[in-house]
Amino acid sequence: MQDRRVDEHAIRKIVIVGGGTAGWMAAAAFSTLLDTGSLDIVLIESDEIGTVGVGEATIPPLINFNNLLHINEDEFVAATKGSFKLGIEFVDWGAIGERYFHPFGSHGADFNGVHFHQIYLREARQHPLPDIREWSMSGVAAELGRFARPGPDARLPLSQLIYAFHFDAGLYAQFLRVHAEKRGVDRVEGKIVDVTLDGENGHVRNVKLADGGTIEGDLFIDCSGFRGLLIEEKLGTGYEDWSHFLPCDRAVAAPCALPGPPDPFTRSTARAAGWQWRIPLQHRMGNGLVYSSVHLDRGEAEDQLLANLEGEPLGQPRHLSFTAGRRRLAWNANVVSLGLASGFIEPLESTSIHFVQSGIAKLLALFPDRRFDPVERDEYNRQMQEVMEDVRDFIVLHYKATRRDDSAFWRYCRDMEIPDKLATKLDLWRSKGRLFRDGQELFGAPSWVAVLLGQGVVPEGLDPRVATVDPAIAADALEKMRVSYRRMAEQMPEHAAFITQACAAAKRAP
Ligand SMILES: Cc1cc2nc3c(=O)[nH]c(=O)nc-3n(C[C@H](O)[C@H](O)[C@H](O)COP(=O)(O)OP(=O)(O)OC[C@H]3O[C@@H](n4cnc5c(N)ncnc54)[C@H](O)[C@@H]3O)c2cc1C
Repeated sequence: MQDRRVDEHAIRKIVIVGGGTAGWMAAAAFSTLLDTGSLDIVLIESDEIGTVGVGEATIPPLINFNNLLHINEDEFVAATKGSFKLGIEFVDWGAIGERYFHPFGSHGADFNGVHFHQIYLREARQHPLPDIREWSMSGVAAELGRFARPGPDARLPLSQLIYAFHFDAGLYAQFLRVHAEKRGVDRVEGKIVDVTLDGENGHVRNVKLADGGTIEGDLFIDCSGFRGLLIEEKLGTGYEDWSHFLPCDRAVAAPCALPGPPDPFTRSTARAAGWQWRIPLQHRMGNGLVYSSVHLDRGEAEDQLLANLEGEPLGQPRHLSFTAGRRRLAWNANVVSLGLASGFIEPLESTSIHFVQSGIAKLLALFPDRRFDPVERDEYNRQMQEVMEDVRDFIVLHYKATRRDDSAFWRYCRDMEIPDKLATKLDLWRSKGRLFRDGQELFGAPSWVAVLLGQGVVPEGLDPRVATVDPAIAADALEKMRVSYRRMAEQMPEHAAFITQACAAAKRAP
């Protein structure tokens, strides 16, 4: 029997403010996953203001988002001029001249409940071993410039290949727009000039456009970018500033021509006052320098970026300012902020688009009715805070775990205070190489192992349980695994050839 009480109070209209990646992801998801028979969804965006225009590297959970929205992956890659991503190569982070790879997925296989990295570390104490990347399917494929989708047979190493995408941010928003409009989302072009609050409960009642129009709604999704038009400018929610942990507060971005076939990975190169990203797409290379304005000025940053491009610059450099941190309440009153409006952590591990996805998933799981029970809002805020703090700690690790002292920036990072939870994690690692995934933490042990070992933080001791694994058997198994990953990678297509196949398949899709 239908529950009348629920219907009576159901949300009837969602207003999404902003048509960047966050706004269109929300529009596409809500129009696919909510009952649009009784729900209107409107998205307002302003061509005059535009979007941030960056945000081109992702992490593997985006595949779940695509699947939930029934997005054909080949069509998605073709439409966004995308490429496949198997991880991130970090250059000059631990020390100048060093490089390591943070692959997606795990390393090797555990032995009787003892983590692979423990066995690897014991072996490495006995005799020199190749980099731990050699035991990652994604890591080896990336090294060889190969790509294939993971196979279903769990006995084969290919099943361990985990991937994500690089794409053109503008094309991605357009792609999602088509998807959302097909499912009934109403797009309004116009600049919001005023926001009206309900005098009684302080909820947003409507937004006013420059052309005089007014748009009312029950639930407002603030995807207006850094300014947080509703969540901050109107509701004054407040921002928790994390710049003492993450001192980079500027970026300059400039695409360039591809110097060769696109690599199936992002590269992050540490510079004297920040780091530079390199994101290969089908038609261009995305580049940007993320830096601390205390340690480098705007002109020097631009010069440094342009001097380090690998191809002809395509377009003028674009400058951006930000403050690392999070909105104190991601959901306040009847406004849920997503994307840059809800906070920002620099793109070192490509996590911002994931925060949008995670916010959408949590909102759907805690979807309110027009009574806006605080219990749903509080739980949403608690979960989003946890997700963001956990990612923040992982990013802080990259800066803290360095031996660089060649600039004031790196000396600051080495000496800075770090969050307590991260300090405890580091103590546990340094003591016996132990890592624990807490709650819904996005990055699991293999990611921490890759960064810690990659930046030269080797534990003093090992988990005593390694003694239960026979060294001769372990050595033999390690070598067999290593060979099997490499053989499998050698059989995969070149990454560029795989992209060509995917784009051809997209054309044939019904
Ligand atoms: C330097 C940098 C690099 C990044 N790299 C990555 C990355 O590699 N991977 C990743 O996951 N993320 C990355 N991000 C984050 C990513 O770009 C954003 O998370 C993503 O683009 C979402 O942006 P947004 O939609 O929240 O905001 P925006 O793109 O800024 O969109 C805001 C929207 O609001 C509209 N708007 C604003 N005010 C009004 C108004 N008054 N009236 C009407 N409309 C209005 C604008 O027109 C626009 O449509 C990066 C961010 C930066 C700054």
